[in-house]
Amino acid sequence: MKTSELTRKLIEFDTTNPPGNEEKCIRHIGSLLKNAGFHTDYYYFAPKRPSLIARLLPPATATLSQQLPICFSGHVDVVPATASDWKHPPFKPVISDGKLYGRGASDMKGGVAAIINAALSLNQHRLKRSLILVITAGEENSCQGATHLAALPEKPLPEVGALLIAEPTSNYPYLGHKGLLWLKFAVRGKTAHSSMPAEGENAILKAARLLLQLEKYDFNSSPHPLLGAATLNPGTIKGGININSVPDYAEFTIDIRTTPNLSHQQLLNDLKNHLNKDVEIEIIQNETGFSSDPSHPWIQQVFSLCQKYQRSTKQIKAEGISYYTDGAVMKRACGEPPTIILGPGEPHMAHKVDEFCRLDRLEQATEIFLKIMNNWCLQF
Ligand SMILES: [Zn+2]
Repeated sequence: MKTSELTRKLIEFDTTNPPGNEEKCIRHIGSLLKNAGFHTDYYYFAPKRPSLIARLLPPATATLSQQLPICFSGHVDVVPATASDWKHPPFKPVISDGKLYGRGASDMKGGVAAIINAALSLNQHRLKRSLILVITAGEENSCQGATHLAALPEKPLPEVGALLIAEPTSNYPYLGHKGLLWLKFAVRGKTAHSSMPAEGENAILKAARLLLQLEKYDFNSSPHPLLGAATLNPGTIKGGININSVPDYAEFTIDIRTTPNLSHQQLLNDLKNHLNKDVEIEIIQNETGFSSDPSHPWIQQVFSLCQKYQRSTKQIKAEGISYYTDGAVMKRACGEPPTIILGPGEPHMAHKVDEFCRLDRLEQATEIFLKIMNNWCLQF
């Protein structure tokens, strides 16, 4: 089956998250792999929401390499789609103008299909190192599936020698992404009649002063060589009940995008020291990012493999991508292997109306993945 056909089949499973319902899609993938000789195990983090770990082990008679396995990973949940806004139904994929349209075509059922098809083409008789495929549920909501796998006491995610996450990159290899730290700041004051503000303590003004302090905050760190500088953006602000009272409460949220060289705990401590003490800080979300060393031989090998599939002749260089992935969670759980984000989807189509993936990129990704698998699994 061509990768575009398999992508089409996977899109037909409506895995909109919420609620997810990834089970049928994941089980379909699991049975394809099981029929081809993979060992398959399912791990449920909620009813109807399993992730799959599939292992292809060298034949018992093979002279084994001591090296660790390679792992390929992708998620099958997709973000919601409002069918009336789409020119084709989002879960009835259509091929037109060399593109496959459907929710998840780019993010990232195309990537998952390319992984599966490459894995099914691998010459198992010559296998010397294991191949591990991790297909997750619940990625679009704080990497629930991957986080669940990483936290299981039986540790189903093994130590691996290399990790590839097939999120949409137009088949360009990226070496990391930022983390995020979402915080809510609550500021308290004392209410009074607005005609006598000196009798109160204005929580909105206190919040405003804090925000101006935060604007100047420089993270006490130099920019990351791959991912640039950490950023901070206030996203919401609330406070006050009516115009003629001194507000006794205000709150605001900020979204901090961190680089892997910044410890989130240290950052929080530093923020508390930097700011006026009179504020409560609540963590809404806390996910660290990751980066890989560009000089690692496997990374260099993937760079040169990918070069001929680029539309421009520009040399591939070490870069990070803007969005968050399972990669950070998986990398930590799998013993910090070199990790690459590389997949056939178009990054700018993720989560969009009329999402598509280019057919040529789907087949190219399958070729690239098979070459990476061959290089890793069939050699000593
Ligand atoms: Zn994704």
